[in-house]
Amino acid sequence: YCGMVAIVGRPNVGKSTLLNKLLGQKISITSKKPQTTRHRIMGIHTVAERQVVFIDTPGLHMEEKRAINRLMNRAAASSLAEVSLVVFVVDGMTWTEDDDLVLRKLQSRDDGRKTVLAVNKVDNIKNKEELFPYLEALSKKFPFDEILPISATKGTNVQRILDMSIESL
Ligand code: GDP
Ligand code: MG
Repeated sequence: YCGMVAIVGRPNVGKSTLLNKLLGQKISITSKKPQTTRHRIMGIHTVAERQVVFIDTPGLHMEEKRAINRLMNRAAASSLAEVSLVVFVVDGMTWTEDDDLVLRKLQSRDDGRKTVLAVNKVDNIKNKEELFPYLEALSKKFPFDEILPISATKGTNVQRILDMSIESL
């Protein structure tokens, strides 16, 4: 089996960090500066006979006023059509308008594929109980197949994303 998994989300939520962690090696560029990843970056993960190609997909949040943004949006959207799982990464406790833009793109291309919401940077949250009402609010935005609090830097729940990726093939 082989297939593709897309990692989507607005800039700076930790997509590249997650991709690096998923692959166990640094291949994508991470930065405090938003939009370091100007192109799709792929990585392959192999388990037994199964191979997952992860695609780091920037650009889905962009306003379509500029031609380059329209192009990046189109590249991101067309790759979504071919994936077996979407990992939608958001920042723990901070939901912005750009997140809504990404969600709308996902909704407009919802052809039954699985979508997991990865709520990242939970290592930053001191009082973990604060997370529950936030996660519950997020569960009402979209019928996510799973909502997973993660830490891409610490690796928390990253294995679960790998397992879901392999299972989705
Ligand atoms: P991208 O724009 O979505 O690809 O985001 P990056 O992976 O480049 O990460 C943006 C910033 O968030 C970097 O400074 C990362 O070190 C930081 N970051 C990413 N994941 C985590 C996490 O799980 N916890 C914390 N505390 N910071 C993170
Ligand atoms: Mg990036």
